[in-house]
Amino acid sequence: MPPAVPAAADALSELARIWRRYEGDPEGAIRVITETGCRALGVARCSVWLLDEARTSMRCIDLFDTSTGSHASGVVLGAVDYPRYFAALEAEEPIAADDAHADARTSEFSAGYLRPLGIGAMLDAPIRLGLGLVGVVCHEHVGAARTWTRAEQKDAAFLASLASLALELQQRARREALLAATLESTGEGIVAFDGARVVAFNKRFLEMWGFDEPPADAAAVHVHLGARTQQLARYLGEASEILVGSAGEGVEVLELTDGRVFERTARPQVMRDQVVGRVWSYRDISGQRRAEAALRASESRMRELAIRDGLTGLFNRRHAFELLGDALTAARATGEQLAVALIDLDHFKKINDTLGHPVGDAVLKDFARVLVDRLRGTDVVGRYGGEEFVVILRRATLAAARAVLEDLRAALAARAWPAELPRYTFSCGVAAFHGHSAPDSDADDVPGLLGKADDRLYEAKRAGRDRIV
Ligand code: GH3
Ligand code: MG
Ligand code: MG
Repeated sequence: MPPAVPAAADALSELARIWRRYEGDPEGAIRVITETGCRALGVARCSVWLLDEARTSMRCIDLFDTSTGSHASGVVLGAVDYPRYFAALEAEEPIAADDAHADARTSEFSAGYLRPLGIGAMLDAPIRLGLGLVGVVCHEHVGAARTWTRAEQKDAAFLASLASLALELQQRARREALLAATLESTGEGIVAFDGARVVAFNKRFLEMWGFDEPPADAAAVHVHLGARTQQLARYLGEASEILVGSAGEGVEVLELTDGRVFERTARPQVMRDQVVGRVWSYRDISGQRRAEAALRASESRMRELAIRDGLTGLFNRRHAFELLGDALTAARATGEQLAVALIDLDHFKKINDTLGHPVGDAVLKDFARVLVDRLRGTDVVGRYGGEEFVVILRRATLAAARAVLEDLRAALAARAWPAELPRYTFSCGVAAFHGHSAPDSDADDVPGLLGKADDRLYEAKRAGRDRIV
């Protein structure tokens, strides 16, 4: 007795058992369907065809022929040549043509296709995907007419539903490949979370953050990122935010412990009004930050250069007078007093002449330091000429300002004198604004005040120097 042909049920249950193997291999899944179709229904040929979108043609994506034991594909059939068959497919019902030459739905194939191949019966099951018809699984019986049983028709329909699954897997794999390519096509590091799960990330994300291997879950991402930023606590706080999925969206700047600066854009993923996840994308803005910082630094250097005297570091003449103008405007508005002192070092020419210009310079720097050290932080000190200085004393009367300068003069005279410096003294003229209506106000404008202070400085010189007038 010849060995029993395996029962249809055996072939199908075998396919069901191994089906999972084809999860990532849709093409293999289609091939195993056509092979199983031949075994399950005991036919010579089984094939899977896909309709084009307009359903005016269909293309064979796989045909298994038991006579050769091989697979083929590529044949295209047009609806114009086989209108009744295509119309029958639209019914989305199995086409069980017991006598394929006589059946109105398949007789179109008789002369050109069925007779040359010796096909006598056909059993075709439509493949549906989503809501529509997308193709057909064809079983071709070589030999005489044959009665397709209800059970065989159900088996054919089952194979068609597996083909539908395989096609869906194929579509999903294509979508995922496209998505992955999109993710990799950007210079930004991207990671997407769905609750505690990491659902997607690109290579750039792993590189930017120095992951040795892909993070297992959201918590692993937070710990890794947190350890590399100054914001560990906040990161851990955000972990819970991600878990509850608040809808916030925003851009922020992260400073990494290694000095890099990343800009992070966070976007919620919303599905049917519900936040289902979150996407973070990171841009390395370190270079941009460095350029900005350098620009700011050079701007502030330029500004400093513009307002400072190079030798002493005090405000230069132009800036000191600008500040004097501002201070006087403020004093006039509030009615507060304001004093200005002009200072000139005594016999400075002699220091230069006898000890040399560098010592003269050292004296100028020394005196600048004395002024800054001994005056209030609110007093403005400027160098307005070679060995001439200006001090602006806010909220000071003439007498108070003179007292301050006198203290300074006495302190200078009494100080433990640095060995490398010659002793020197200064003369000073002070003028003050005491308010518009105050009878003892020297002037109420900058030229007036400076003129008065200069007159008194001249008086101090004439009276013997080393004094405040
Ligand atoms: P007086 O007591 O009358 O003020 O005498 P003086 O010698 O200080 O007066 P004068 O204004 O004639 O001398 C100022 C000198 O300061 C002249 C100039 O060579 C010198 N000088 C100006 N700027 C600088 C500088 O930046 N460094 C040095 N070392 N000397 C300077
Ligand atoms: Mg002078
Ligand atoms: Mg002088």
